[in-house]
Amino acid sequence: MAPVLSASGRLLRTVLDLVWPPACAACGEPAWEGDGLCARCAAYLPASGPRCAHCGRPVGPYARPGPCMRCEDESGRLDGVVTAYAYRGVARDLVLGLKFRARLEAAPPLGRALAAAILEARIPGDLIVPVPLSRRRRRARGYDQAVLLAAEVEAALPIPWDPHALLRRRDTPPQTALPRIRRGRGPRGAFRARRSRVRGRSILLVDDVLTSGGTANACASALKRAGALSVVAAVACRA
Ligand SMILES: [Zn+2]
Ligand SMILES: [Zn+2]
Repeated sequence: MAPVLSASGRLLRTVLDLVWPPACAACGEPAWEGDGLCARCAAYLPASGPRCAHCGRPVGPYARPGPCMRCEDESGRLDGVVTAYAYRGVARDLVLGLKFRARLEAAPPLGRALAAAILEARIPGDLIVPVPLSRRRRRARGYDQAVLLAAEVEAALPIPWDPHALLRRRDTPPQTALPRIRRGRGPRGAFRARRSRVRGRSILLVDDVLTSGGTANACASALKRAGALSVVAAVACRA
């Protein structure tokens, strides 16, 4: 999935970038430096800060091992959450641009940052699986932002991916449309995992953003029903 350029193709790209630099994926200004962001936006990416390794929520400066007080009572199916950025500022602009305004150039900087976060957190994972969109929403949008992110993560890490391991059965209302009490539970029965592809594997479940965790937990349930050993959500941003 990663673009492969020949040596001459790379040289041409470098020359073109100098003459006509790519637009910053966050603000649209010329991005003279690498990674698709202008220097200002790159400097203002919000660090994810200390977070609970279990639910990914921000915690105090002295994170304790194991679940935080907020996730202790939850009965989620995720084994952990790793995030590249907090869900605000430039990182939020990138995620929203990728999701709703077809700014596909936001996928490489987000995906590479997510790959770096996975490496740094030393997450055990042997299969990258994106959270799938429904076929109808995918057709309406023309692309699937989680698949684009997962492809970038796969290109940056020595871990294979399988964008067909998890299927979305039917359209579910967006989580924000559900009563608050139901959100954390996620769309039940909406996902199905292919046993032959996920059995015995440690899954890195890739998505753009994790808010209530409902969708990720529903995916984790489906993956574990199909025999996955563990499921860690790997998201560009955690609210
Ligand atoms: Zn910018
Ligand atoms: Zn927690």
